[in-house]
Amino acid sequence: MYVPRPIMDSQLGKLPQEVKFCTKCVMSNQRPRISFDANGVCSACHYAASKITGIDWAGRKKQFAALMDKHRSKDGSYDIIVPCSGGKDSSTIAHRLKYEYGMHPLSVTFSPPVYSEIGWKNLRRYIDSGFDHYLVSPGGKMNRALTKLSFVLLGDHNEIFDHGQMGAPFRVAVDHNVKLVMYGENGEAEYGGTLKDADKPGRDWEDFQECYYSNSIENLIKIGMEDGYIKEPIPDKALDIYRLPPVEDLKRVGVEMHWFGYYHTWTPQDNYYHAAEHTGFQANPEGRNIGTYSKYAQLDDLTDSFLYYLMFIKFGFGRATSDAAHEVRDGHITREEAVVLVHRYDGEFPHQNFKVFLDYVDLTEDEFWQVVDRFRLPHIWEKKNGEWKLKHCVS
Ligand SMILES: [Zn+2]
Repeated sequence: MYVPRPIMDSQLGKLPQEVKFCTKCVMSNQRPRISFDANGVCSACHYAASKITGIDWAGRKKQFAALMDKHRSKDGSYDIIVPCSGGKDSSTIAHRLKYEYGMHPLSVTFSPPVYSEIGWKNLRRYIDSGFDHYLVSPGGKMNRALTKLSFVLLGDHNEIFDHGQMGAPFRVAVDHNVKLVMYGENGEAEYGGTLKDADKPGRDWEDFQECYYSNSIENLIKIGMEDGYIKEPIPDKALDIYRLPPVEDLKRVGVEMHWFGYYHTWTPQDNYYHAAEHTGFQANPEGRNIGTYSKYAQLDDLTDSFLYYLMFIKFGFGRATSDAAHEVRDGHITREEAVVLVHRYDGEFPHQNFKVFLDYVDLTEDEFWQVVDRFRLPHIWEKKNGEWKLKHCVS
C-alpha cells in the first residue's frame, strides 16, 4: 500500500539550481551542506588539503593519549564505547584503542534492517577476535513500518535506522556510566558538508540533535497513522530504542563524543588492511559493492544499496562519486580515473536486493517506482523518449 503525500525532505528545497562538480575531486554541489569556492573547489577538498599541511598531528596524538589516560579504567571495566557495525573502520578503532592505548572498549551495534551473510560473519569474526559487544535490535514489525514511512515520506528508508544507530551507543554509555563514545570520522568534513565542526574533536549535544534528529519520528508516526500504514498505535516510550537519551542524563554522566579521525589521519584503505589483519574482516566475496567499484565499505545490510540509489535519484550522484572523490583527495587515483569510475558505476540499480527491499517495506514494484520518481527534481532530471536522464554528468 502506498499513499502519495508531499515530500518531507527539507534538504531538497535548499539545493543550488545550477549543478556543478568540484574541479579537484568529482563531488557534486548537490551534496547537502557542501560549499564550493570561487575556483570551483569543494569544502571536502579544502579539508583534505588542511589535513596534510595545516594540522599538528603529533600534537593531536598527544592530546588523544592524554584523553585515554584520563578515562582508562584500572579494574578492567568498560571505559569507552565504540559504535560498531563489524565493518573495517569501527573494528580498527576498537582494536587500536585496546592494543595501542590499553583501553577497555565495549562495542555497540544497532541492528540494520536485513543482515547480509558477509556482514553477520564479519561481526562474529570481530567479536571472536576478542571484543565485548552489544547488539541492539528493534522489533521487526515496528521497524518495518517505520522504515517504510522513512522511504515513502523522506526517500530515505535508513532515516529510522540512523536514529537508532546514533542513539544506541549513548544509551549504553549512560546505562554503564561510560563517559567516552568514540566515532570514526567527521563525515561532514571528510565527505563534503559543513566544516562547522572540522576543528573540533567532537560535536556538542545541540549540534548532534540538529544534525541527526531533525526529522522527527513522532511526525512520521502521525502521518503513518493518518495514512493507514500503522494500524496499531505505537506507545511513545516504545520509540526510546531509536532515541538519544535525554541530554540531562548525558550531561549527568558526563558523556562526550569524540572522532578518532580528529586525532589520527583517516584513510579508509588503511583501516581495511588493519581490520583484515587483526579482526578477521573480509571484503565482499562477490566482488565490488553495487553502485560502486569498492569491495570493502558497508557490507552488512542488504537494503543499504537502496540508500545510495535514492541518493542518486535525489541529488544526481551516487556511491561511486563518494568513493572516487575520497580516493582522489587521498591521492590514490586521479580525477580523470574518478570520472571514468563514476560514469561506469554511479546509479547502478540494486537488482540483486530488490525483492528483499520490497518485502521489507511491503511495497509493490509499481509503488516503489512511484515513490522514486517523486524524488526526481527538474533541475537534475529530464525525461527523454520516455526514459529518465541526468541533465548534468561530471566530466
Ligand atoms: Zn572536491
